[in-house]
Amino acid sequence: MEAAERALVLKVGRFKEHDAWVRLLHPGLGVQNAFAFGGLRSRRRFVGCLDPLKLVLFTLREARGGRYHTLEEGTVLNAFEAIRGDARRLGAARHCLKLVEAVQIGAEGAREIFEFTVASLDALERDSGPPEFAPTAFKARLLHLQGLLPDLSVCNACGRPVQALSELVLEVDSGRLLCQDCRTQSQAGLALCPGSARTLDWMAKASPQEWGGLRVSQGIGRECRRVLELMLGWRLGLAWNGARYEKT
Ligand SMILES: [Zn+2]
Repeated sequence: MEAAERALVLKVGRFKEHDAWVRLLHPGLGVQNAFAFGGLRSRRRFVGCLDPLKLVLFTLREARGGRYHTLEEGTVLNAFEAIRGDARRLGAARHCLKLVEAVQIGAEGAREIFEFTVASLDALERDSGPPEFAPTAFKARLLHLQGLLPDLSVCNACGRPVQALSELVLEVDSGRLLCQDCRTQSQAGLALCPGSARTLDWMAKASPQEWGGLRVSQGIGRECRRVLELMLGWRLGLAWNGARYEKT
């Protein structure tokens, strides 16, 4: 089976003399490796395609009864030149793509994650908001789309809205957001203020085009990053080491 479809290049490696493997975020397959046999020799079939952070229209073929995929040819649709030319935006984009790779997005729900990731890169390309904040907003929405964030608008036990509460706790084992009255004393948790819960809730639902409108105080920004870091650790066993995500 052969099909042309957009895909985002996450990583490229070489094997043998002229062959390449390409890790893609593909709307139908999720994060998937494919082989470009002869891709490093016959550059005509893949002009400018075999680099990370390129949106490419690839012709993909199933080989050996679906055991692996090969890339037949490609056309670059977006090289995100503005991101490439700006170290801060490039750093933010790389962080987002490293997360996509580490979360190992499967075929189910892949299209939504793919469209969201491309929209996030488009927003960075157009410079919507401070790029340092993009990985935090990206993480919140990605975890939400993967069903890994609790409802952040209410106490998950009594249902009171966070605006009506003074202090909140994110419970370690259950990952539930609880008010002071409902929290289980025996369990550890991370205290957070209602403003952080509301900011996280907004980020979980916002489209990347809206990121530019968000103004966050340093304290709330720090708390949001801490919550997402903990959720990634609890739910997926992932930790950011400054360059990539590692299994903890
Ligand atoms: Zn409660």
